[in-house]
Amino acid sequence: MHVQPLVIANWKMNGSRELVNAMSSALGNQSALTEQVQVVICPPATLLPALAEQASTAGIACGAQTASAHAGGAHTGELSLSLLQEFGVSYVLVGHSERRQHYGETDADVAAKTKAIIAAGCTAVVCVGETAQQREQEQTKAVIGEQLAAALADLPDNAATKLVVAYEPVWAIGTGLTASPEQAQDVHAFIRENLKKLIKTDADLIPLLYGGSVKSDNAASLFAEQDIDGGLIGGASLVADDFIAICSAA
Ligand code: PEP
Repeated sequence: MHVQPLVIANWKMNGSRELVNAMSSALGNQSALTEQVQVVICPPATLLPALAEQASTAGIACGAQTASAHAGGAHTGELSLSLLQEFGVSYVLVGHSERRQHYGETDADVAAKTKAIIAAGCTAVVCVGETAQQREQEQTKAVIGEQLAAALADLPDNAATKLVVAYEPVWAIGTGLTASPEQAQDVHAFIRENLKKLIKTDADLIPLLYGGSVKSDNAASLFAEQDIDGGLIGGASLVADDFIAICSAA
């Protein structure tokens, strides 16, 4: 691990006020853990007010699953960074494969959003990853190199302090298939080298997360790898005991 371990929950379009309460109180009882591991929860936007009320006593940070690159105006259904920041959002996911695949988010959108997130003073969690077909065709590193170059073009020199990269193989998200620790480390080392070329200052300090069917029984072996600084967790972040076990493994 290079930096403070970081574990981010992506609840996707799941959860409830009850889950916010249950997760906040479960994590609130784990202060020794949340002092060591930075824990972030990205609930659906409508649950952010409830989460924001409890985040500081729970020792966690609030995150959003996406944000508009626009500051305001005629963008029906979108949420700007300033609207999200009113509810304590300090981390924003960008380029999640579900948004790229199902909502047409392009590399150019990811780049614009990443810039806007950092300019607003939030941390951008840039998600990259290859499909099963791209892996079979041995294009994994080419695809990820392109995604990184596009997302991180023209960032300010000091962007490292406001950036996280999550490697999420598309074939591993929500499928129960997980990259082996060796496969994940191989890609993470590649990402680390690329970041040094793309970000001028302190690229070594950028946390690199693995995501894709991380569970309580495989988290420790993934997080033990040198360039894996934590995880982005979907399904297993909806059950407090499982999520806490994953955070403990970091
Ligand atoms: C995700 O959606 O970012 C994710 C990693 O999901 P899961 O853990 O369910 O594979």
